Amino acid sequence: MVSRIIPVDAFDLVIFGATGDLANRKIFPGLFRRFLAGQMPDDARLIGAARTEQSREEFQAQIRAAIKEFVSPSKQDSAQIDAFISRLHYVPIDARGEAGWPELKALIRPEVINAFYFSVAPALFGDLAERLKAYGIAGDDARIVVEKPFGRDLASARALNKSLAEHFEEHQIYRIDHYLGKETVQNLMAVRFANILFEPIWNSQYIDHVQITVAETVGVGGRGSYYDKSGAMRDMVQNHLMQLLCMIAMEPPYHFDPDAVRDEKLKVIRALQPVPPQDIVRGQYLGWHREDQDTPMPGYLEDCEDPHSKTESYIAMKVHIANWRWKNTPFYLRTGKRLRARTSEIAITFKEPPHSIFDEAEGSWQPNQLVIRLQPNEGMNLKMMIKEPGPGGMRLKQVPLDMSFAQALGEEGADMPDAYERLIMDVIRGNQTLFMRGDEVEAAWAWTDPIIQGWEERGDTPRPYDSGTTGPDDALMLMHRDGRRWRHIK
Ligand code: NAP
Repeated sequence: MVSRIIPVDAFDLVIFGATGDLANRKIFPGLFRRFLAGQMPDDARLIGAARTEQSREEFQAQIRAAIKEFVSPSKQDSAQIDAFISRLHYVPIDARGEAGWPELKALIRPEVINAFYFSVAPALFGDLAERLKAYGIAGDDARIVVEKPFGRDLASARALNKSLAEHFEEHQIYRIDHYLGKETVQNLMAVRFANILFEPIWNSQYIDHVQITVAETVGVGGRGSYYDKSGAMRDMVQNHLMQLLCMIAMEPPYHFDPDAVRDEKLKVIRALQPVPPQDIVRGQYLGWHREDQDTPMPGYLEDCEDPHSKTESYIAMKVHIANWRWKNTPFYLRTGKRLRARTSEIAITFKEPPHSIFDEAEGSWQPNQLVIRLQPNEGMNLKMMIKEPGPGGMRLKQVPLDMSFAQALGEEGADMPDAYERLIMDVIRGNQTLFMRGDEVEAAWAWTDPIIQGWEERGDTPRPYDSGTTGPDDALMLMHRDGRRWRHIK
């Protein structure tokens, strides 16, 4: 069975920041893969824009090289690459200057879908929005796509929303959180709302706690001074982990419709309780001399080039949601860099049965746990108790009901579009379900701000942790004192 590809309608897509890292690594390779899959109509037009003065041919050569580097060898079909490259145009434009805009306007066909991807620093969002309108390039149906970070606190997020709202309606604005484009993240909604199995027990009566883990093995080397201005709370928790938490905790929307879904997510964010300092552990990784490497890897303080930095490269926290469904079920979130393994998962641990009928099995009982793996090897694992085989009475044993989506779906699952590809196609289709609404982003910052302010006021210093581990020991205590344990990061 091969997945069904539904081509999108004719479109012109302008990528501002077309010479940058994101455009070269993700956006254009992703567009090429959608082209290969047959999802792009014949007359789709892709227009790069940035300050760099270069010809159309030079830009085409740049993207050809990007495809070579960032698209898998199995997809390197030179005839297809030529066909894709022939759709590319380039206009040198400074977001804050006046040159190039008339040339851009001449390339845009008002009769097709127009989308503008702002793959530039957020400080330029307002300038781009203003000029797209001032030069009569973006009409009332045009869409703009903006990248993270969407603000660094509530005030800056509000200012960004305001600068966009001066020129575009909310239904035209697509705020990307690429986590929402991941297949498994969308699957969270399918698992919850397309099966009767889980929803009746999806509450604090039956769920003991939820763990959300996003662990990375890489440090911040190379972009340390940039990262140091944000840290794990701003870079990961406020957006990605918050979105995962919303998917797990939200009420069923009345329909799979952008505003219905986003209304429910917003309610979860607004119900998040303030987090007391004792429920948060922050960490910074130490240097590492791995046996398999000649030179030691620097620690966080060297990577960020500030020996006094108090920015966290790791955070673990216990979060409560103040509503009927989740009262007394804690959500434990953790994310960090230079950890033991690269893994993202959500684990839902259920409570014990109200009464045990197996006297002999005393002590062997373990809770049911549903683990949803986002990466690697996307899939689900439901841990169940069964009878241990053989004679000797009724001994119990926990076994996994394990499903890898790639295996379960066979050929259909082998070639799933990556998050950026999917989200860009959603922009063209005009589907905002997987994009954050302005009020959602502001609510997330309204919860995050007091936590960060508290650290600043108290001069909170992150705990050092060894690279290649699971983070600071204090994070273990965060769980242990509640009689719980983190899942292994492996
Ligand atoms: P980057 O490599 O620094 O690229 C920035 C782009 O902006 C370049 O194409 C640059 O080209 C262009 N630019 C800079 N000033 C401009 C101006 N005044 N007018 C027009 N174009 C201008 O940054 P990036 O990593 O691609 O990131 C782009 C955006 O995506 C940022 O908001 C970033 O936070 C976000 N993001 C990136 C990643 C990632 O993996 N890279 C992930 C998530 C989010 P010229 O110098 O030629 O003008």
